[in-house]
Amino acid sequence: MTKNVPEIFGCMVFNDEVMRERLPKEVYKSLTKTIATGRTIDASIADVVANAMKDWAIEKGATHYTHWFQPLTGVTAEKHDSFISPVGSCKVVMEFSGKELIKGESDASSFPSGGLRATFEARGYTAWDPASYAFVKDGTLYIPTAFCSYTGEALDTKTPLLRSMDAINAQGLRILRLFGDTTCKRLNNTVGAEQEYFIIDKEMYDKRKDLIYTGRTLFGAPAPKGQELEDHYFGPLKTRISAYMADLDEALWKLGINSKTKHNEAAPAQHELAPIYETTNMAVDHNLLIMEYMKKIAEKHGLVCLLHEKPYEGVNGSGKHDNWSISTDTGKNLLDPGKTPAENVKFLLILAAIVKAVDDYQDLLRISVAHAGNDHRLGAHEAPPAIVSIFVGEELEQIIQSIVDGKAYKSTKAGIMDLGIPTVPTFRKDTTDRNRTSPLAFTGNKFEFRMLGSSQNIAMPNIVLNTAVAESFRQFADVLEAAEDFDAAVAKLLKETFAKHQRILFDGNGYSEDWEKEAEKRGLLNLKTSVDAYKHFSLEKNVKLFTDHGVMSATEIKSREEIYFENYSKIVNIEALTMIEMAQRDIIPAVNAYITEVADTAAAKLAVMPDIDCSMERDIISKLSELNANAYRDVQALKQAEADAAAISDAVERADAYCKKVIPAMQALRAHVDAMEPLTASEYWPLPTYGDMMFRV
Ligand code: ADP
Ligand code: MG
Repeated sequence: MTKNVPEIFGCMVFNDEVMRERLPKEVYKSLTKTIATGRTIDASIADVVANAMKDWAIEKGATHYTHWFQPLTGVTAEKHDSFISPVGSCKVVMEFSGKELIKGESDASSFPSGGLRATFEARGYTAWDPASYAFVKDGTLYIPTAFCSYTGEALDTKTPLLRSMDAINAQGLRILRLFGDTTCKRLNNTVGAEQEYFIIDKEMYDKRKDLIYTGRTLFGAPAPKGQELEDHYFGPLKTRISAYMADLDEALWKLGINSKTKHNEAAPAQHELAPIYETTNMAVDHNLLIMEYMKKIAEKHGLVCLLHEKPYEGVNGSGKHDNWSISTDTGKNLLDPGKTPAENVKFLLILAAIVKAVDDYQDLLRISVAHAGNDHRLGAHEAPPAIVSIFVGEELEQIIQSIVDGKAYKSTKAGIMDLGIPTVPTFRKDTTDRNRTSPLAFTGNKFEFRMLGSSQNIAMPNIVLNTAVAESFRQFADVLEAAEDFDAAVAKLLKETFAKHQRILFDGNGYSEDWEKEAEKRGLLNLKTSVDAYKHFSLEKNVKLFTDHGVMSATEIKSREEIYFENYSKIVNIEALTMIEMAQRDIIPAVNAYITEVADTAAAKLAVMPDIDCSMERDIISKLSELNANAYRDVQALKQAEADAAAISDAVERADAYCKKVIPAMQALRAHVDAMEPLTASEYWPLPTYGDMMFRV
């Protein structure tokens, strides 16, 4: 079957083309202006837009609409309303008003609010985000919205994201104006998020309670083969996977998502999809849809898509690379070093702003990727370390060094150049080599933030990047706008900034122990667990950052902090309970049954030949009995640790207990169970093995 991709691309999206075609000229102009400038929608056009949207959606098979939002659960939420409106007692017409498009009211009481919403005031509101296109899926018109409480506090991730985009726009424009750019009206920031995932056969998945309840395997001895042959990375796609990916691409294209790259990843049964970058709020919405469709389409193929950061021990986990940049509404990428010296000064100033932002807000960047699942990756020698640092490549690092030293920059290729700013040398962007261990790497014309977990909403990392960089821009603009000699002021600012924040630059091996020591000497943070990281969230400097830029209020920060701790505890709690159930009801009895069989065999042999050698049976029985007894004791210890943690009323102390007491108890139990697996006959072992799960798909 051949597909006409250009024809199907975006066919389910109420995008610019459809709007131009279907809306009266004036309405279309007003709406696109709203979208381009990020201003509030003119209420008078809402009815017209809603009606056009409804007619279009009905043609696409829709009977319902929904305000689609991103509560702090990490996933999306939706409540469907049909377009029907009664006429008399036995007829209906299809209606959709501007009011219904712009604002929705929904019961917010079951969404996490971190104490923001008192129980007596359960109302929440959803508000249309016109900058992210509405679309039709499964017979419903989806309207991307922001979600807030009755009192106006954000209860979602989209609201602060949009505010952070406004912040970087406002402060970035000040910098552009200083460099004489008077044409740019809006700075956009752009994101392309590469998404990793695992695929498993549905039949295997259904036999694993741990995968069903927690998304990762809590037990499992290593398979004879892992990823050591490096034969999976970029390897040929299996037929079944290829068919899955083709279906996935088609579904995503219809929704106007630029799914571009797909390939096998490092671990067996691990894959990656990368879309082409776009404006950040669209990229966030689209990443959520990508994750949803990865799961949904897998089901059609008898497969299950695992988005957890660490489905299997012993092989790589899954992350997400957040490629981030800033561009003008005229399409110029501000992170492109360009070819002319003047451009380079502007570029270096923007680079300095980012270096400063990352150093000043290391903790926030770490928090933005901190969740229980990602703790299994960060610092575990497969993903970036938990220490935040930047890799800029050799050439940029040399330029920065020469600025700090106040010396001429010696280009490795093009001879000696004087760094008397603004006559800055041009440099070649392809000299930024790759460094896979770096948390944040400059890759030619964008930064690649590599600490994100595969399952997470990508909003928060971008909220932090945008706001922290906006703050650097603000400080720079304050200085430069007041300067009498602009060139001298820029030179001074660059020198001071790079000198102060050079410690965050690192181009070595992030996995090495030396780096941990070196980072400590440099005074960089090493927040090893999510719980360690969360404790920095409401530090005064962080609250000031978000409130100064209107991205989050102090109350909103407090509520998010509470949700972070609570969510962490809940996840570990579910994992602990799942382990207890699996060990107690499935694994320990199965091993006992096998021991009984071996004992019966020995007894039968002895009955026939009283002096026969039964040392093998004795050995198996002895080893397994001991391990099983240990596992049983571990279960009791885990139960106690879980009960103790659950009883703690303070959210921070509770999370600490889950992190420092419950997780070690889980690890102890796992070690004993995993040791029994290779000693137990396959037909007795109650779970599909690592080999079954990773290699039989
Ligand atoms: P790699 O795997 O080498 O990191 P990919 O091509 O798989 O590279 O992914 C790079 C991602 O970066 C893509 O999603 C791409 O669209 C995105 N990207 C490229 N330019 C920009 C930019 N200016 N802003 C944001 N993202 C970008
Ligand atoms: Mg990448």
